Parts: sequence; structure tokens; C-alpha cells
Amino acid sequence: MGGVPSDPSTPASSSPAHVATSAANLPPSAVPTVSSRLTWRPSRPPASGTGPAPRTGTAADAAELLRGLRITALTGAGVSTDSGIPDYRGPDSPPRNPMTYQQFVQDEAFRRHYWARNHVGWQHVHRTHPNAGHRALVRLEDAGVLVGLITQNVDLLHEDAGSRTVIDLHGRYDRVICLQCGRVISREHLADRLTALNPGFLESVTEVGDVEIAPDADAVIEQTSHFRPAPCEFCGGVLKPEIVYFGENVPRERVDRAYALVDDGDALLVAGSSLTVMSGLRFVRHAAKAGKPVVIVNRGATRGDPLATLKVEAGVSETLTALADA
Ligand SMILES: [Zn+2]
Repeated sequence: MGGVPSDPSTPASSSPAHVATSAANLPPSAVPTVSSRLTWRPSRPPASGTGPAPRTGTAADAAELLRGLRITALTGAGVSTDSGIPDYRGPDSPPRNPMTYQQFVQDEAFRRHYWARNHVGWQHVHRTHPNAGHRALVRLEDAGVLVGLITQNVDLLHEDAGSRTVIDLHGRYDRVICLQCGRVISREHLADRLTALNPGFLESVTEVGDVEIAPDADAVIEQTSHFRPAPCEFCGGVLKPEIVYFGENVPRERVDRAYALVDDGDALLVAGSSLTVMSGLRFVRHAAKAGKPVVIVNRGATRGDPLATLKVEAGVSETLTALADA
């Protein structure tokens, strides 16, 4: 992965103002940091506003509603839970403190702790496999029904399953970017460097069941104070996963491509997302505003419910499978 020297001051434009108004960029699934646990107005009711409660129904009802329509999908952490990646917003999620982009950039101790945890968690995500839900979306795309999908997940399981048109809204866990020179390297390459810099570290924490895995490739570890993060090997700068953190904006170009993908479809299918952050919710608003049917498949309330044409309160994998079979 060569360098992609882009504007050095780049990727993560700090634009706190934006965040202040919308929890927008939190990668819901990203975080030890970040977002998800987003305590971002945690007590806020799932209100996007106005409309009445959505009509609820079954997978069969969703299939009937979507019949003959070309679908754009928006997926969240709930799609990956059956692959063993926990959804922090699920009912059994442990309370955790979100990390912000600002903390990551400004606090060296924080970065050390982050990278130590990520060094362990990354390996877990690296070993996960797509589930029936991911495969159902591939079948729908192959059948010409799904025009493409936007995912809030950074685990690349849609790509692994075989989906071709995928927009990784919040980035991807397998890449790392230098905040100073802008070069992008693979997470795998960084893993080799971190292992060399911290002999014995992985062995000390990776016994099965010893760590808690987070959706953004993070894992909880107590002993991280002696961990040595790796600086950029080209310029000595600070390295950061190429993941959009709480406090960052999704790159504009990526947002525009996602809106275009929503425009390409006749309907929007949301799967496994509580739409807690504006980053995903805006696409539901966009589709609803265009008069397109919005089907939400999620266990539990979502901020998009008031805009949904149909809400399916059922498991994501089985519902998507039923849609693909229909
Ligand atoms: Zn660099």
C-alpha cells in the first residue's frame, strides 16, 4: 500500500461544530472510542420527528412492499452480530466511554491505550466471517434487486461475502492513515510492526475469552501502559485507523456517493442500525423526502422509525434471508 500523499492535514478534518449539532459522524460501530456508545444524548428518544409510529410487519410484509422495486440498503452493526461482532447498542452491551477524534489526536497516553486494545481486537475482526444476512444481500444484488449498499460497519464483511457495490461510510478496519503525511498503509503491515515493538504483549492478553471484542476492532485490555505504538515509518507522524471517529466528518465525496446510491434505488432498506447518528439517519430522511418507501429491519426502536413505511422487529439475518428467498 503505497502512500497516498494527500493533503497532510487532512482526513480527519476536525470539525467539532458539525458534531455538536448532529452526532453525525460517529461510526456507530466504531469505537472504543468512539461512537457507538455514544452516549451522545443517550436518553434521547428515537425521535426523528414527526410522523406517526411506523406500520410494523413481518419479513413477508416487507417482501410484498418491496416487490418489483430496486433497493438500496443501509446496514449497521446489527448485520454483523451473527458474525460474532457485538453491537454496542444492543440490549446486552456494556457501558463504555466513547473516544473522540480530538482525544486521539491530542492525548498520547490515550493513543497508546487505543492502539494496545486495537492490536488485539483487530485480529478478532480479521478472523470473522460473513453470515447469512451478508450472503442474502449478495443474492439480492446478483438478482438485480439491490443496487448497492451503504454500510456503517468497518468490518468489510459485505465485501468478504461478495457484495460488489459497497460504500464503507465509516471507513475500514484494514487500513491505517498517517495524520501527518497522509500515507495509507495496511493494518496487517502495522500489526507486524506493533508485534515487533511489543514482544510478548499479544501472548499476554489473547487467551480465548480473555478480551472483550468491540465492533471497531477494539478490545478491552487493562494493561496497556507499557504498550509502544508505532509512528509513521515515513515521517514519524501519528497513525490512525482509517475509520471515522466521533468528532470527525465522513468525507464529503463519500457522503455524496452514498446519496447518489440512495437516489439510484426505488426504496431504502435499513438493516441492523438504530440510526442513532445523523451519519446514517440522513439517508433515511433523504429517501423519505423523495417519497420512497423505507423499510427498517431492526430489533428495538430506531431514530428512523417515524419515517419508516414499514418496520420489521426481527432478526436481521433471517429477515434478509427471507427477502432474498421471496
Ligand atoms: Zn507519515
